[in-house]
Amino acid sequence: MTKPTSHLILRMAIPGPLRRIFDYLPPLDCDPTQLQAGVRLRLPFGSRQVIGVLLATAQHSEIADKKLRRAQALLDRQPILGEELLKLMHWASRYYQYSIGEVILGSLPTLLRQGQDARTTTETVWQLTAVGEKADPQTLKRAPKQAALLQLLKNHAEGLDAPMLNQQLSNWRASMKRLLEKNWVYLREQKFNSATQNTQAETTIKKQSLALNSHQQLAVEAINAKLDRYQCHLLNGITGSGKTEVYLQVIQKVLDADRQVLVLVPEIGLTPQLIQRFRERLSAHIAVLHSGLGDRSRLNNWLACGHGEARVLIGTRSALFTPLPALGLIILDEEHDLSFKQQDSFRYNARDLAIVRAQKIGIPIVLGSATPSLESLHNVAQQRSQMLSLPERAGTAQPPSLRLLDIRHQKLEQGLSAQLLNRVQQHLDARGQVLLFLNRRGFAPVLMCHDCGWHARCLRCDAHLTVHHGQQQLRCHHCGSQRRINPHCPDCNSESLHFMGAGTERVEEVLSHRFPEVRVLRIDRDSTRRKGSLEKMLDEIQRGEPVILVGTQMLAKGHHFPNVTLVGMLDADYGLFSSDFRASERMGQLLLQVAGRAGRAERAGEVLIQTHQPDNPLLHFLLQHDYSGFSQTLLKERAEAELPPYSHLALLRAESPDATAAMQFLQEAKQQAAQIQSQLLAFGPLPAPMERRAGRFRAQLLFQHHQRGELQQWLAQLMPQLENMKSARKVRWSIDVDPMEMY
Ligand code: ADP
Ligand code: ZN
Ligand code: ZN
Repeated sequence: MTKPTSHLILRMAIPGPLRRIFDYLPPLDCDPTQLQAGVRLRLPFGSRQVIGVLLATAQHSEIADKKLRRAQALLDRQPILGEELLKLMHWASRYYQYSIGEVILGSLPTLLRQGQDARTTTETVWQLTAVGEKADPQTLKRAPKQAALLQLLKNHAEGLDAPMLNQQLSNWRASMKRLLEKNWVYLREQKFNSATQNTQAETTIKKQSLALNSHQQLAVEAINAKLDRYQCHLLNGITGSGKTEVYLQVIQKVLDADRQVLVLVPEIGLTPQLIQRFRERLSAHIAVLHSGLGDRSRLNNWLACGHGEARVLIGTRSALFTPLPALGLIILDEEHDLSFKQQDSFRYNARDLAIVRAQKIGIPIVLGSATPSLESLHNVAQQRSQMLSLPERAGTAQPPSLRLLDIRHQKLEQGLSAQLLNRVQQHLDARGQVLLFLNRRGFAPVLMCHDCGWHARCLRCDAHLTVHHGQQQLRCHHCGSQRRINPHCPDCNSESLHFMGAGTERVEEVLSHRFPEVRVLRIDRDSTRRKGSLEKMLDEIQRGEPVILVGTQMLAKGHHFPNVTLVGMLDADYGLFSSDFRASERMGQLLLQVAGRAGRAERAGEVLIQTHQPDNPLLHFLLQHDYSGFSQTLLKERAEAELPPYSHLALLRAESPDATAAMQFLQEAKQQAAQIQSQLLAFGPLPAPMERRAGRFRAQLLFQHHQRGELQQWLAQLMPQLENMKSARKVRWSIDVDPMEMY
């Protein structure tokens, strides 16, 4: 036994996976009153230095006196994280079984994690000079970029900073230089982004709120009636039913009461149009947080929220961990979206944690979706949350008609049936736009030799290489490796290499041949990689000329296509056959989301779904726009199979370059688990559906329990034991509580 130390001890969270709290002595010459939970300190750790966050102080440590190390410096005069957020992080650390250090440090803005000052700095704003204000964009006809920039600056008399310009224009710097040379623009330094603060809001005229229809009215009233306590509302409104209008009116009410609002959206949903819509309506400083921002803007926006200057924060998943001392309402849009789940490092679900945050503060949360997740619907059934429905489209738009195209025995041209192609022609003739949806990018998923049967496979994964014709490349969509297409078969030297199956690139090619007089725009991860290219295509679509859009699920979210009159789903069947138990739920959500893109304005839309399963009962619910019937059927299936939300899962994954190490580790983990609790169901270990990826062999072990709490307690015991297992050192392993994808 070592004698316990008796001084002021700092209990620190430090970055890294170790599920422990670390004890340190305070820095010399440090005022102890400043040692409050939530401040950062610089610490020696092994031979390195790390930045840690103080969780608490104590009088005693289990560590022997002479082994305790002293913190080097206190970095903050005031806590950067308040008690509320620290509590949430502790909760998340326990629930998801990640170290408190990984949770806290991982959610801080990069600059704070690196130990930089938690103070706002100045930033550059571009603003029109008096001469510039009088200049006419028409005179810049030959320089359309400069004209666009001039117009933009005219619309923002208070000036624009780099993040805002980036949002609106790509490559604006060269044009800005020209305008500076003309003396139409000047530069000014100001305290962080007050340009985005809408401080002039009171003087600029905001758009009026819309007169609500009766469903919207009921929803707004129901939410407003309970602003002073925790309540989870599920706003279930079909696409175009005016959910955003409901959000805006409730937000206004909360702002009037001098509280802050957090709005979480899926990654792909955070479009400039959305931010614009909020700015046009709300007289409040709106901050934005997403991964596209530079480190400095991220920090500034984060601090503006923490200091209370920003009143509304719109952000993606990780914005959940932003300090908002006067938080009065959380809104989470498209709550069914998968991007709220973090799939690597600290695996958490921002939707579920947002509910916990609201609960802990005692404020309402609104989850919005046209196609709610089964989990959220189950919560309504259990009366844990309240459903508010918007069953009709707002304004005049009509819901689209949905129809199945039976493609059994039909000849398909790269996945396109003759019936579908005919309808495409008719819609184009009527000057409508057409959107074709296919969940596979690239040209063809398989390259095969007709003579010997060789096919192109990734050397590092158990996967085919996808042909990308444009770049003349074979690419692996799992590890990113790529190589050039060779005209000869590497096995038999034959030249008869065939492309099998169709991706977006190939469908684009077929359509360009077939409809040479219209533009075909492909929208997927490949075609939108270059900054600004998506915006350019979206602009072209907004102009309303007949075009054909071919795209992946990027098209299903966030964007409004008022002139699209025909939507075609090429491969709806894949969702009916997948091994993932969530696949049919996803397929239905995607189908209705894609369908919702059509006919949003005056023109009614038509949606055609190609299928080999025209009698599938699930598809028939969707045809009737009966998402409720669809989801009730799936919930029944889940109940019978005892799958979530009727039971709780945790997935232990392991991987290693060594072919057997991962399975061995999981086998031992399973034995350990059985010793702690014999009633727990453990399935596996099994090789992952794609066993080898990027040169590593992967395996998984699935735990299931009917009681969330018991699963938690039991995992909490197991994790430290796994950390200490010898076989753990040979693998990379991770735990995924409430996994959303089973690979
Ligand atoms: P959602 O978010 O549910 O998809 P939106 O809020 O984007 O729907 O609304 C769809 C369209 O209907 C928008 O153009 C919006 O301006 C319009 N709209 C919404 N509410 C009303 C209303 N009460 N009266 C008239 N138009 C409305
Ligand atoms: Zn061959
Ligand atoms: Zn690969």
